[in-house]
Amino acid sequence: MAFCVLSFDIGGTSIRAAIAVDGGAPGEVSRFDTPAHDREAFLARLAGIAADLSQKPDAIAISLAGVVDPETERMIVANIPAIHDTDLAADLEALTGIPVVIANDADCFAVAEAVFGAGRGHEIVFGIILGTGVGGGLVSGGRLINAGGGFAGEWGHGPIAPTMAGGIAIPHFACGCGLSGCLDTVAGARGIERLHTHLHGAPLDSRAILDAWRAAEVAATRTVSVYLDLIAGPLAVCVNLTGATIVPAGGGLAGAHDLLAAIDEAVRPLTLWKFDRPLVVPAASGAEPGLAGAAAIAFQKQAQSS
Ligand SMILES: [Zn+2]
Repeated sequence: MAFCVLSFDIGGTSIRAAIAVDGGAPGEVSRFDTPAHDREAFLARLAGIAADLSQKPDAIAISLAGVVDPETERMIVANIPAIHDTDLAADLEALTGIPVVIANDADCFAVAEAVFGAGRGHEIVFGIILGTGVGGGLVSGGRLINAGGGFAGEWGHGPIAPTMAGGIAIPHFACGCGLSGCLDTVAGARGIERLHTHLHGAPLDSRAILDAWRAAEVAATRTVSVYLDLIAGPLAVCVNLTGATIVPAGGGLAGAHDLLAAIDEAVRPLTLWKFDRPLVVPAASGAEPGLAGAAAIAFQKQAQSS
């Protein structure tokens, strides 16, 4: 009988849901509001979506912007107070009688790329998110590393940003995680804006910076050059450390494929193994990597247990 997964991609304001069957990609996507501040309403919303299906799903798979405390199994979800510091999987299983798997959204992205996207055929895939900030996930042999937590592959946090880039001093900016010098502060869309302001004293939206870079305007060209110099070294070290042979990139900033190509050109000379083809590449797993990756994790869990 077909194995049916109800996949959720849960954000602070909306929930996307879709069904995936027998290892396939998720189908039609439905959208719902997130009851972000009410735990009972949050659980009832997910359980209600499951109950409304014509066939009871065999598993529920959830992608969200949080991590699971590996010791307590409780969620750390800053943008959804309703489920922060709760055991969402246990609560939802108790309510629905359906097994639940939960993974970090960057991890789901990495799995989606490994199974359905640019990472197909690669043993080790380091999926990176260049969005407002920076995230990442690591997949080996099609399987997520650290499925229980969500911390592996998080290259965005840790005080490792170079303090010299493009020939000038760059300060260690304070990060939301409590440290300073995290790549999250300089490598995402807010980061490139922060760099531009630091270099030129005038704030500019990341899209405008990239448009000006494309037009070869001096200030933006300088910003992007410093940006590339800042992130290329740390990203090359991630490639050396993980053995990844492909780095699919997703998120809003990664939608700028010319910027990705420039990142790829900056990173490849710095890795120990010199790749003679693109290494940092656009994501190719479709518009819903969270839904696809979460479902793929549920299918893998099913295959493991049967
Ligand atoms: Zn940080």
